Amino acid sequence: MNSITFSHNPIDRASQLRSNKEWQQESITSEKSLFMIFFEDRPLIKVSKDHSTKPEILWVSYQQLAPLLTNDVSPLFLGIKDDLPYYAVDFSILDLDQMLSHPSFANCKFIDARSIALSIDVASTGIIAQAKSNFEWNKKNIYCSICPGVKLETKDTGYKKCCPQCGTEYFPRVDPVVIMLPCFEDKCLLGRQKAFPPGMFSALAGFVEPGETIEEAVIREIHEEVGLESRDVNYKFTQPWPFPSSLMIGCTALVDNPKFKVDDEEIEEAIWLNKEDLTKILVGKSEKRIWIPPPMAIAHQLIINWMEAN
Ligand SMILES: [Zn+2]
Repeated sequence: MNSITFSHNPIDRASQLRSNKEWQQESITSEKSLFMIFFEDRPLIKVSKDHSTKPEILWVSYQQLAPLLTNDVSPLFLGIKDDLPYYAVDFSILDLDQMLSHPSFANCKFIDARSIALSIDVASTGIIAQAKSNFEWNKKNIYCSICPGVKLETKDTGYKKCCPQCGTEYFPRVDPVVIMLPCFEDKCLLGRQKAFPPGMFSALAGFVEPGETIEEAVIREIHEEVGLESRDVNYKFTQPWPFPSSLMIGCTALVDNPKFKVDDEEIEEAIWLNKEDLTKILVGKSEKRIWIPPPMAIAHQLIINWMEAN
């Protein structure tokens, strides 16, 4: 199995330091701190003109960043790595062209997280996921949902918001999604959503509902999407999916009767495939011209994991 994209974040989140205002104030302006920059959910990436080196996150010092920092931009504390504090700043409010003319940003581009995840090292995708999901949550949570029109106060560098009127605290949310392979004898089932590009099949998936276990969500989703009864849900691995902030929970489940009936609302087509079929699909030699999501998707990793075990 390959490494899971958007995981393997090497930074120690040091969450106990987020609420330490004195430490934060000193740390943000210190010469040691490093900052990555976002513009409208896209991280600033250093790219080599001739593609001779891998793209990488651009890290700049406070001193380089200071001319662009205003009171409206509050750095998000990512954590500590090798005794250095790491931060992310969201510069969406600045003028993009003016910002990119800054000498520190030569050969840099804002690239969307999905595209850059294909070519950057996996540890960096974990850092991008942490910052991106937090920034999106911050942008969407401006007012208290109880007190009309009351602006929330940002706490802990952006990991918490508080209503100054009623005291309600808000925390960044993570939406759990189950993604699973129903398995029968030597086959696993893949499905096709109507919105998928032609020929693409993937694992079944759906949001976990309030008051539901992962196992119950897997069994319910399989039943809803393809009408199969399943049991023995087996957890495999998870993937943070920062679009905007899901946690994909990869599972398999056993099926006793393989006769399925797709729910037209959600799934257009489903198919049982054995290891041989999947091997052909992976090398682009499927007779039915079926293909599966790329390695950055947990669905791909689930399929590979199932093939290795069968
Ligand atoms: Zn309130």
